[in-house]
Amino acid sequence: MTLSHDIVIVGAGGAGLMAALYASEGGADVAVVSKLHPLRSHTGAAQGGIGAALGNEEEDHWLWHAFDTTKGSDYLGDQDAIEQMCKDAPRTIIELEHYGVAFSRTREGKIAQRRFGGHTRNFGEAPVRRACYAADRTGHMILHTLYEQCVKNKVTFYDEYQVLDLITAEDGEAVAGCVAYEILTGEVHTFEASITCFATGGYGRAFKTTSNAHAGTGDGFALALRAGLPLEDMEFIQFHPTGLYRLGILITEGARGEGGILRNSEGERFMERYAPTVKDLAPRDMVSQCIYKEIREGRGVNGKDHVVLDMTGVGSDVLEHKLPEISTFSRVYLGIDPVKQPIPVAPTCHYAMGGIPTNADGQVVKSSSRDDKVEGFYAVGECACVSVHGANRLGTNSLLDLVVFGRRTGMAMAKQIRQEGNARLPLGDKPEARTREMLDSILSRPVDAGEKAVVVRTDLQETMMKNVSVYRTDDTLQDALGDLQSLRERAAHVTCDDKGKRFNTDLMDAVEVQFMVDYAEAITVSARNRTESRGAHLREDYSERNDDEWLKHTLFWSDQKGGVEIGYKDVVITQFQPKERKY
Ligand SMILES: Cc1cc2nc3c(=O)[nH]c(=O)nc-3n(C[C@H](O)[C@H](O)[C@H](O)COP(=O)(O)OP(=O)(O)OC[C@H]3O[C@@H](n4cnc5c(N)ncnc54)[C@H](O)[C@@H]3O)c2cc1C
Repeated sequence: MTLSHDIVIVGAGGAGLMAALYASEGGADVAVVSKLHPLRSHTGAAQGGIGAALGNEEEDHWLWHAFDTTKGSDYLGDQDAIEQMCKDAPRTIIELEHYGVAFSRTREGKIAQRRFGGHTRNFGEAPVRRACYAADRTGHMILHTLYEQCVKNKVTFYDEYQVLDLITAEDGEAVAGCVAYEILTGEVHTFEASITCFATGGYGRAFKTTSNAHAGTGDGFALALRAGLPLEDMEFIQFHPTGLYRLGILITEGARGEGGILRNSEGERFMERYAPTVKDLAPRDMVSQCIYKEIREGRGVNGKDHVVLDMTGVGSDVLEHKLPEISTFSRVYLGIDPVKQPIPVAPTCHYAMGGIPTNADGQVVKSSSRDDKVEGFYAVGECACVSVHGANRLGTNSLLDLVVFGRRTGMAMAKQIRQEGNARLPLGDKPEARTREMLDSILSRPVDAGEKAVVVRTDLQETMMKNVSVYRTDDTLQDALGDLQSLRERAAHVTCDDKGKRFNTDLMDAVEVQFMVDYAEAITVSARNRTESRGAHLREDYSERNDDEWLKHTLFWSDQKGGVEIGYKDVVITQFQPKERKY
């Protein structure tokens, strides 16, 4: 069936819903297509906070926020976009409050704010209270409010429809719509739209240990590559320092913002040695690298590959009222009461800094020129790269990225429809052919003619974790590329037990693992190509940052047959010249 809307947004997390809300406010006919029910999107799991220089608890300025974000990005973030985000942050938070987000409050009734890693007062002097929060359920509150507002605005929702292809037009210069698989019925549908917008979230599930939900399989990255579009800065992956040991479940940085301390086997507060000014509130790339350093030097707790997060000095009152979720996680998953005992933690794959390149209005760009737009295609949220996070994102800046650029993207899309009308581009001959072929080839393969998707996926997650995580060298990256070559072959021949049409998650697992190989290659090739260390990309064989050669964004293209191409894009520098990062 062909379904037609002015704007089709793929993804119903914070980014997709924010864009849908503002596009519908702007008068457009908007549909949101999501493989999950919107309220199950990963945004709902965001815990600790959303950054904005409101100055409710102590003096703060958007320029300090912009400086911290730039320095946090190891100077790879585009400063014009960073300024846009930090300047827009306060009013966007107030708008969210007016839409109904129930933030925690100060005694005077203002939105409460707490400390987070890398956020400082007066250009690095000391940590500042900048993260607005709703206990440790900030994402949950935002997601629910945005969904309610979208329903009120009569946005059309296609829940549990998984998009499997982008329909390009005009020789790849434009996008005419997308193709989706209806999970409940097994039907394939074409969406035609004047504008298609991706808000498909991150890819944490490509790694063995991750804080991301099961659906975080990064489909959007692969679909963009398959449409012949580039991905930007894919080598930069954030490992969050405090995942529950072995499980990867997140303990928010807000825990350290409220006074939690990281300790090694000697009980030492080791971050004091590495970041004397901000200590445990150093940015995530640094803290994760330091944790591994402690472990490698034999100071893992109990001889194991973890350290501990000590919350025993924080007090049961703060844990109960400001950090209830993570206290429960610790009790339920590890049997540890954080009031009395330190929590074993290790870095966990958390966030994709890179993604589909866009400008600050969410329009996708397809080369090193920022004017080279893809007609009818927008992207926003974790799947996009504006780039405000550069080589390392600061905590609270993803939720902020979603709402600021979601809002801007929604408004830009509505404006385009108002000004240019809602004509649709031709879908071409048989737009669903590629999707049907892919599904048929998996379904028609005999069950014993290949491996199960889960086997291939597990091997992919293991090689990515072992070879492409916090510490990298040319050797580990080459090992990963060797593995990916055979994984591509294996993924192309996976089989599924379930041959039915209704809720065939087996089939979607098989599709997703093929997607994973595509962008895992983008990550690994980009990482091998960048022969320096910057932010979250730490090369043991090139341990210094090298601004002369590498102060530039990576662009990666692939033909999915092993043919890859690398290009570059300039970094926008406005007022903060690159300096050595010290905290
Ligand atoms: C545990 C956790 C805690 C976090 N805490 C914070 C925090 O406190 N502060 C902060 O700033 N950031 C935090 N983050 C990061 C932040 O939450 C995410 O980066 C952000 O929520 C991503 O939002 P999104 O809208 O881009 O994607 P998501 O919320 O992940 O939504 C993706 C959407 O895309 C849909 N989708 C994906 N693929 C397809 C497809 N093929 N077809 C159709 N639909 C598709 C999904 O159904 C979903 O609706 C946290 C992340 C995690 C994992």
